[in-house]
Amino acid sequence: MKGSYILLMELSGGQEIWVGKLGSIFFSGGFYAYVGSAMNGLDARLARHLRFEKKFHWHIDYLLKQAAIREIVLYPSESKVECSLSMAMAGEFQHIPGFGSSDCHCASHLYFGDNLSRLRAEATKAGWPELKEPEIRRYERQVAADNVESK
Ligand SMILES: [Zn+2]
Repeated sequence: MKGSYILLMELSGGQEIWVGKLGSIFFSGGFYAYVGSAMNGLDARLARHLRFEKKFHWHIDYLLKQAAIREIVLYPSESKVECSLSMAMAGEFQHIPGFGSSDCHCASHLYFGDNLSRLRAEATKAGWPELKEPEIRRYERQVAADNVESK
């Protein structure tokens, strides 16, 4: 299965997080939505996001050291639609400049909201009307205290 996805994450408190080439960014406590795509296989990508130990490559890898994945909204599709999903989110939420958008023309692929259900509501209609209603997976994921980058 290939396609795009939106990670819905919770950050329990405001904090500075080092985000690789973006440098150190202050993230407010609350909820975040990250829009990505995996045209080589969604399951492997989602498993990577959920795994703590990995070589950090994307901006999202750094944020996931601290933020917990609560839900993933899945949009299986043959074409890459992540930027149009991201633009739909941009109409409703504040974005974190440059995050996850190094390879496209979007201002960002990461959005902040103080409320999980509002982020979910927008994430689940972001593909409308082109895409079918997405699948939502829910997770109980704790942030590991000993979470370190593996080389
Ligand atoms: Zn984009």
